[in-house]
Amino acid sequence: MVEQNSFLYYDGAKREATSDRYFDNINPATGKLTHTIRSASADDVEAAVRSAASGFQVWSAMSPTERGRILRKAAEILRSRNEEIAKIEVEDTGKPLSEAISVDIHSGADALEYYGGIAASLHGEHYDLGGSFAYTRREPLGICAGIGAWNYPVQIACWKSAPALACGNAMIFKPAELTPRSAVLLAEVFTEAGLPDGVFNVVQGEAEVGQMLTRHPKIRKVSLTGEVGTGKKVMADAAATLKHVTLELGGKSPLIIFDDADLDEAVNGAMLANFYTQGEICSNGTRVYVAESVKASFLEKLVAKTKQLKLGDPIEMDTQVGALISEGHLKKVLNYIEQGKKEAKLIIGGDRRTDVEGCYGGYFVTPAIFEANEESASIVQEEIFGPVMTVLTFKEEKEVVQRANDTIYGLAAGVFTRDLARAHRVVHQLEAGMCWINNYNITPVEIPFGPYKQSGMGKENGLATLNAYSQLKTIYVEMDKIDSPY
Ligand code: NAD
Repeated sequence: MVEQNSFLYYDGAKREATSDRYFDNINPATGKLTHTIRSASADDVEAAVRSAASGFQVWSAMSPTERGRILRKAAEILRSRNEEIAKIEVEDTGKPLSEAISVDIHSGADALEYYGGIAASLHGEHYDLGGSFAYTRREPLGICAGIGAWNYPVQIACWKSAPALACGNAMIFKPAELTPRSAVLLAEVFTEAGLPDGVFNVVQGEAEVGQMLTRHPKIRKVSLTGEVGTGKKVMADAAATLKHVTLELGGKSPLIIFDDADLDEAVNGAMLANFYTQGEICSNGTRVYVAESVKASFLEKLVAKTKQLKLGDPIEMDTQVGALISEGHLKKVLNYIEQGKKEAKLIIGGDRRTDVEGCYGGYFVTPAIFEANEESASIVQEEIFGPVMTVLTFKEEKEVVQRANDTIYGLAAGVFTRDLARAHRVVHQLEAGMCWINNYNITPVEIPFGPYKQSGMGKENGLATLNAYSQLKTIYVEMDKIDSPY
């Protein structure tokens, strides 16, 4: 059913957008239009900025303990609405409900709970200077903009808003245009938890609405999750007003499997690193380097397990592979697969599926595994953001480290080996912000997650992120007479 609803949220309530631009909200599993959504106009963005400015006044004056209590209450309400919000995420993203229900909402709530727990512990320092002293205050930045990608909509909104709000900022969040709905539900959850009006606001639209935020002189920070190309544009736009910038961008991460690895574990790791959420995960280890001596047995086990994956209607709890996000993205992924067939050997998968019961118009592709010899192949070099794994082989540790690092990206990396000295030695040399030893794609809120190189800058999660949403004021206090040369 097509509806036109108010999907903006500011001054503590849902609001009607006023632009003459609309965009479609489509269910990727069926290809059917679910909503037509009106974009925010420049006036709407101004209203959201005014709302955030007044929210900031109230919120930044509240005690940190009170702020923390409200964030933890929001975590509780979010968890209580897990199933309802998970179903909306499934309708918007095409990902399996089994994933959304166990990961997406819970990991968002974890961030609210974690930052809610440490809000009251934020503090400055005291410096004894003899006849004088100084102290620092950790102060909020003011209004922060969050701009989200479509693969983990509510999780991304929480990973940005939780540390921002814990530090006393207000936020205006723009979800990706392909997944606009859950951010508004999060705004409702915040309001129900007692968040003052205007502290968390939502605007909707495509790139031009994002630009209204990145160029706005009253917005002090922008945190983007998106593509490398978008990151470059956002950074350039933010430069005009010297905004603080956090950029969580794309990747083409290496996963290295040494000859002494537990191969069953390595197969599980490689599948987690490539096929979860239909491969639409930024940190995926899509370049799988396997020691030559174990390649045959690794591939045998991998192919056998990949054949077992259940592709189907994402709303069914036993589905493991859902639909890709959009028709455009489906075409992009299929083009890479066609190109890959010319550059490498396709071992399994890579087929468009139009026979999923009840989902005949959906954007389904079976998980693909390529065996590649050429490092220069486009499927080895470029981010596909779909269920496409490339397996390569190596002989020497030094050689594989050099090949793993030979990329513009630096988001993540993984190593499977029983030799822990080698594991640490290798990850210390890998040019990636997030490395896993004997696991992959594990991102608990306690640990900082973020990129190196052109995968972006800054961290999400962990204590490190608090620095990105606050600024340090130093105050010098004279206790004596001024030692004046005049
Ligand atoms: P995208 O770059 O197309 O869009 C991301 C967001 O930026 C959207 O909300 C979009 O409307 C907005 N946007 C686009 N152009 C803009 C501009 N010029 N100014 C301001 N805003 C603009 O990315 P996507 O297709 O939504 O998401 C997929 C990408 O996100 C992949 O590259 C993936 O690797 C990356 N990603 C990274 C992480 C991470 O944590 N590093 C996590 C998830 C996704």
